[in-house]
Amino acid sequence: MAERIQAIIESIEMAKKERGGDSGVSLMAVSKTHPYAAIEEAISCGQLLFGENRVQEILNKFPTGHHGYNLHLIGHLQSNKVKKAVQAVDAIDSVDSLRLARLISKEAIKVKKVMPVLLEWNTSGEESKAGFTDEKEYFSLLDEAQELEGIRIEGLMTIGPLTDNEMDVRTAFATLREIAMKSKITYPHLSFDTLSMGMSQDYRWAILEGSTVVRIGSAIFGQRDYT
Ligand SMILES: *Cc1c(COP(=O)(O)O)cnc(C)c1O
Repeated sequence: MAERIQAIIESIEMAKKERGGDSGVSLMAVSKTHPYAAIEEAISCGQLLFGENRVQEILNKFPTGHHGYNLHLIGHLQSNKVKKAVQAVDAIDSVDSLRLARLISKEAIKVKKVMPVLLEWNTSGEESKAGFTDEKEYFSLLDEAQELEGIRIEGLMTIGPLTDNEMDVRTAFATLREIAMKSKITYPHLSFDTLSMGMSQDYRWAILEGSTVVRIGSAIFGQRDYT
């Protein structure tokens, strides 16, 4: 695993150089379906940022009150799991509705937390994917964000389209970057600095389009077995 993580870090560095500028790119290891032993191995390689997409799996797999690393929820969050999610994770990167933002805010206030969140956009138009598609709902969330104590918006997240067509993939990532720029102009007091985009198959393109966090699963942990 150490060699795989090292190779990814090097390829992130190369893409970052090609992109230019000085914003950094963090590597998130997406450990879903893999046992806690695999996470411990990654930690021993110096990997301290993890992503999981299901609350129940997090509760089953991770010790409570984990320390020394960061765990983000990156999958769709159902309203009946919000309370548990707020207790179990360090950030929620998949906020895809105003309603969900309000629920997270409410639960976070109860436990005196300020939950960092990313707003997820569906930039591919694929129906199977979660995320905002409606600017009106998205901007009404931002309008309300001031009053939403208990959450702190840090940026945006998206999943690229399921294709190896470079143009299509990069267009989706560029769309997220443009939404962030537009948001920043309209809401200068909010932060849109984090752009979480890029997975094992497309993270180089995502970095070229401005990604600041890549979410890598299979390229670190191997293929997922859902059986
Ligand atoms: C599973 C998953 C990833 C990682 O996918 P890989 O192709 O294995 O790198 C990234 N982001 C989200 C939201 C995921 O669910």
